[in-house]
Amino acid sequence: MIAKERTSLYQNVNRQFDKAASLMGLDMEIRKILRNTTNEVVINFPVKMDDGRVEVFSGYRVQHNNALGPYKGGLRFHPQVDIDEVRSLATWMTWKSAIVGIPLGGAKGGIKMDPSKYSISELERISRRFTYALGNNIGPEYDIPAPDVNTNSQIMAWILDTYLSTQLPHERHRSIHVVTGKPVASGGSIGRDKATGQGVVFTIENWAKDKGFDLNGATYTVQGFGNVGSWASILLKEHGSKLVAVEDVTGAIYRQEGIDPLELSEYVRRTGGVVGYPDSKPIDRKQFLQTEADIFIPAALENQITQETAPNINVKLVAEGANGPTDPDGDMILESRGIDVLPDILCNAGGVIVSYFEWLQNKRSEKWDLDEVDSKLHRIITHGYNRVKEAAREYNTDWRTAAYVCALATLEKVYVERGIFP
Ligand code: NAD
Repeated sequence: MIAKERTSLYQNVNRQFDKAASLMGLDMEIRKILRNTTNEVVINFPVKMDDGRVEVFSGYRVQHNNALGPYKGGLRFHPQVDIDEVRSLATWMTWKSAIVGIPLGGAKGGIKMDPSKYSISELERISRRFTYALGNNIGPEYDIPAPDVNTNSQIMAWILDTYLSTQLPHERHRSIHVVTGKPVASGGSIGRDKATGQGVVFTIENWAKDKGFDLNGATYTVQGFGNVGSWASILLKEHGSKLVAVEDVTGAIYRQEGIDPLELSEYVRRTGGVVGYPDSKPIDRKQFLQTEADIFIPAALENQITQETAPNINVKLVAEGANGPTDPDGDMILESRGIDVLPDILCNAGGVIVSYFEWLQNKRSEKWDLDEVDSKLHRIITHGYNRVKEAAREYNTDWRTAAYVCALATLEKVYVERGIFP
């Protein structure tokens, strides 16, 4: 068979978009607007290394749409970061907030770099210099970054401090919501660290309830054991489910009797990866993706479930913790094989939902407790789940297309009501 030329990630986003827009009959003029990003910032900025050398980094911030509220989305530090990837991730952020009904728009950013190659003090200078270079392209009521791949609450604290340091003294505390995913003492929300994994598990619970599927005793595999993958693993185990295989950037492991996700998190903290975890069997990437289980949670990078890998995925449900883990060919194959997919723009929306809670708490000088955060997260993501389920039924379509239909219907209504200026 002649291999098809691989389409870019953003082309995949537009394939998903076009399918939903045609199915629902989205207004042609609004289609033109939503098919494009609004602003794209590319900044090449110099940073002094520990040994005195200067390196120039490329940083990106793409703002897709702010019809529903300020631009919102994470920052990623990874060698694969480029304008095509950031555009795609920014666009998915717009859909996510629209599906679950929170008043935020879509953005994303990142720096093309491998953070494992830099010292902590270099990472701090890179983060701060990028924030400074972004200047007023971000802002608490304009565009609010958050953590993503290889960024965390410490990096958010440096971004916050740099941004506040550039404001007039009497403006500083009014701007603390310029980033979310901050450490709790620096204005972060309780429950933001686990929020994306928690949202993934709430969504799986909803699916299991609808299907009459018992999570107790169910098996699952997880790709990526960082923020999203580790929390989803820990919280799913609380239902009595069994984690049997995990893959991260260091390799993959299998254990039929089950892997304790809390112990594995501790092991990864000490060693930097899952490989070598006691009593587990090393497996290769192909074996990992073919592992038989009830649920697969991709929680690493894009384009993992494709024309090549989808035919051998051996599960009942794919619950997408990562953004874009399944490409359109992969989707078609999963559908033809009767494998359910909880799409990224619904399944991993817990992160942006609790980021929204953090933003609100900062604006109101409040601190919510974990029960309040979790119960509100549960209500909002379940509302999104039910909306998508209803759209899938009404349009007789797959859940990803249904999720797009929900997002596009919300945005279409806003554009029709407001009109196009001037
Ligand atoms: P992270 O940096 O905390 O973890 C990433 C994990 O992926 C690590 O375990 C890493 O080893 C693994 N990984 C990297 N390259 C890999 C490869 N080639 N093969 C297998 N594993 C690999 O990042 P995260 O915040 O957990 O984000 C993971 C995914 O979830 C991304 O797609 C991100 O966009 C998405 N997401 C994150 C959030 C959030 O709140 N952090 C919210 C929504 C969606």
